[in-house]
Amino acid sequence: MWKLNPNDKNAEDYFQKLVLPKLKKMFNLDGTIKSTYHKQRSTKTPFDGTNLSNKLTLDVVEELIVSRPKKISYLNKEILKNIFNPTTNIHDYLAKVNQIEKKEKQIEKERKKGNNPAGLTTNEKNIVDRYRKEIEAINVIFDYDSVINSSTGIGYDLAKLLNINTCTYCNRIYTLTVTKNNKEVGIRPQFDHWLPRSKYPLLSLSYYNLIPSCYLCNSSLKGGVDFTLRKNIHPYIIKNAGFRFCFNVDDLDKWDFNLSIVVNDDYKRSFQNKVKETLKIFAINEISNAHSFFELRDIMDKFPDYDSTYVEELFDVMKAIRPSKEDIYRCIFGTALLPCDHLNRPFSKMTYDILDQLELLENLNLLRHRKKRKIVVFTP
Ligand SMILES: [Zn+2]
Repeated sequence: MWKLNPNDKNAEDYFQKLVLPKLKKMFNLDGTIKSTYHKQRSTKTPFDGTNLSNKLTLDVVEELIVSRPKKISYLNKEILKNIFNPTTNIHDYLAKVNQIEKKEKQIEKERKKGNNPAGLTTNEKNIVDRYRKEIEAINVIFDYDSVINSSTGIGYDLAKLLNINTCTYCNRIYTLTVTKNNKEVGIRPQFDHWLPRSKYPLLSLSYYNLIPSCYLCNSSLKGGVDFTLRKNIHPYIIKNAGFRFCFNVDDLDKWDFNLSIVVNDDYKRSFQNKVKETLKIFAINEISNAHSFFELRDIMDKFPDYDSTYVEELFDVMKAIRPSKEDIYRCIFGTALLPCDHLNRPFSKMTYDILDQLELLENLNLLRHRKKRKIVVFTP
């Protein structure tokens, strides 16, 4: 859950084999942008007269698509600086554009009401026109909808390349890639733009900015929330999820358990805050609790009075037919044991954390993957 392993070879394959064939037509052989390029059935040349066409080469596009999260964030800023060449810093420039666009909307609103407000000044109009022309040109190259999402896009190929079985954010829903009649139609994960497309159009196709996730996490829960590297955890940057699930018992007789989330306190405070902030956005605590009566109950029923004897005996019996502990664990709990495999099956992290709290992992010597952590068991 949360953590994805960076894979630079995959990122390079993604660019060379999937993205490049879609973008090649917009570039000259020397890698510069073709200023005469136009879409089929259109005479409009979107790159003509833009700064983008002088500043962006195919090499830079490749860097934007294959580089790691911190680097693409830096590259994005530098390229925008180069394109817009603002007299102040790029943040102030973009804030100014935003302010003018808000003013423009307000003017429009007033006009619809029948009022006659003053329009934008010539300077404001020039700023916003130039900004839109460059952004439009950026959107022609980094066109997520056409390159990835359309029926002729590479969405299914990217999903297969990433090969992540469950949602990175919730580890609750399968995100398998299945095609129908051998065509690129069927089911696949959605790709969350970790840094939003609306604010980072240059990163719309970046491998490390496309997080495989379920529809509910991507659209219903994250929606329009803007992530930043300062405030949120990035699945490709973290060493581990930074939190664990714990069960609490309210009333044992009525089978009243609930789940809570504990953020690991042996990390820097700033990291803990990022973890908390990100968990809140995906409602991990609330949603996990909604599953208490299902998955948590399945686990707890195997531990009468918190005793792991029954499961330990099951392990012993199964040793004869299943050689590895990972296989036995999977057969008994239906989830993956190793933290590096947790995204292979739904609820793997939750199950692992609860079994850790019940001291089963320690009793069966299943903790070789990480150092032991002292877990407090809550009892009524
Ligand atoms: Zn999800």
